[in-house]
Amino acid sequence: MGETKTVHSPIVTYTSIVSLLTLAPPFVILLWYTMVHADGSVLQTFEYFRKHGLQGLKNIWPAPSLIAWKIIACFGAFEAILQLALPGKRVEGPISPNGNIPVYKENGLLAYAVTLVTYLGLWWFGIFNPAVVYDHLGEIYSALIVGSLVFCILLYLKGHLAPSSSDSGSLGNFIIDFYWGMELYPRIGKNFDIKVFTNCRFGMMSWAVLAVTYCIKQWFVQFSFDSQIIFYLQYEMNGGVSDSMLVNTVLMLVYITKFFWWEAGYWSTMDIAHDRAGFYICWGCLVWVPSIYTSPGMYLVNHPVHLGTQLAVLILISGLLCIYVNYDCDRQRQVFRRTNGKCLIWGKAPSKIVASYKTEQGETKTSLLLISGWWGVSRHFHYVPEILAAFFWSVPALFNHASFLPYFYVIFLIILLLDRAKRDDDRCSSKYGKYWKMYCDKHIGDASSDPEHLDYCSYEAPWIILGASDRLIELDFTVYLFTSNSSLLEVSLVDMSLKLCLLNSLL
Ligand code: NDP
Repeated sequence: MGETKTVHSPIVTYTSIVSLLTLAPPFVILLWYTMVHADGSVLQTFEYFRKHGLQGLKNIWPAPSLIAWKIIACFGAFEAILQLALPGKRVEGPISPNGNIPVYKENGLLAYAVTLVTYLGLWWFGIFNPAVVYDHLGEIYSALIVGSLVFCILLYLKGHLAPSSSDSGSLGNFIIDFYWGMELYPRIGKNFDIKVFTNCRFGMMSWAVLAVTYCIKQWFVQFSFDSQIIFYLQYEMNGGVSDSMLVNTVLMLVYITKFFWWEAGYWSTMDIAHDRAGFYICWGCLVWVPSIYTSPGMYLVNHPVHLGTQLAVLILISGLLCIYVNYDCDRQRQVFRRTNGKCLIWGKAPSKIVASYKTEQGETKTSLLLISGWWGVSRHFHYVPEILAAFFWSVPALFNHASFLPYFYVIFLIILLLDRAKRDDDRCSSKYGKYWKMYCDKHIGDASSDPEHLDYCSYEAPWIILGASDRLIELDFTVYLFTSNSSLLEVSLVDMSLKLCLLNSLL
């Protein structure tokens, strides 16, 4: 059953849940309003609310219009059909806590290509103008907010009445069940995986479609702004789209292409393998991703910046590098797990910890923890290039308009990933126990800040005299000795009997 325990204290947990449930929807509307109608200026929006109070929120909140529902329904139905109909390799997800192995069809990249080609084709042949999406963005968000809330209620009911697998259950509390979800792998029928739909085929796909939309919209905006000579010249130089918008769009599209290229890998990450389908994940992917994740591009539509070739290329290359490093981190873990550690990481056989854990049924299983490559640099190192990449597709907005809004996504991402790292550490710590502690201590950065670690170093010499170790780490009352051939020996210090027992061969 996914994550069942809360990491923070109950008061923090409930406060953050209730705040997110109540504040996230108006925030989506406020961000859109400020970006599109208040010149991206938080001060202007603030001034508006000072004058109009809460009634002001009611005034700016667009009603979900028919065209908005139609756009969402067409997009959602198209993606659902692609998910079901396109061919793809059969892929098994990681074994769930209840011992189930979910099976997927790997057709995300194909669905992504079909979606973009269809969208651009509709535009090219004059069947549908993507600028319409931008013009009805507020109504679309408004409809998504309501529609996704209903969707999450249905998910909650499904979890109670007709769960798809034994990886489901209640925490005994309506708020937490609704927020975190009931099921880990909810499905419609045998094949339609709901989380793949919400997270990948709707959420991530809408991000790509909106990135293209903003670019196309800016292309059109030039005609309405052509009296403003500076904008006009800038658009002229870039063939209708500013270089800042181009850099932003290219980086976001490369990131999303990477996502779909690696989609099967995503199915073994926390979102899919650990987080259950509830408001947090599903509402987040259905509403928060298309609104907040796309916001740097949304801002640029009306606030084009001329970067110049040098700066544009510098930002582009830096962003591409970060996306590559983020991909490579995920790839290393995926290849390492898939080959059972029998692979090369940075040209060498990887160091690893064989960590055993107990399933909810009490069965003992083992997982491999990688301590080489990026995963040997620090825990959650992959979050660093993830944040930097987001910074690089936001920074084309520069700081010209004295607004931090184009950087809101980066700020949000830092908070999200810090919380996620904490949740993941907590989960892994309770799953793997001493093996996780051993993994954490293996990172010099973490361990060296621990004064006790310095004491352990003083034990190192005798072992080196024994000729058996190249590294010594103590955990509680246990010393772990990494021998030169990477076998792991355990030495109990409690009785000082120096009982050496071979735990696992790490090769
Ligand atoms: P991971 O894919 O890193 O998954 C964490 C899991 O990996 C852990 O729960 C554990 O699971 C396993 N694990 C941890 N350490 C090791 C290790 N040393 N060796 C092998 N396996 C290990 O986390 P995320 O799902 O957070 O990230 C996946 C990708 O998605 C990243 O690129 C991240 O940047 C990106 N991301 C983007 C977000 C966004 O909003 N833009 C949000 C979140 C993530 P197990 O139980 O299997 O051992």
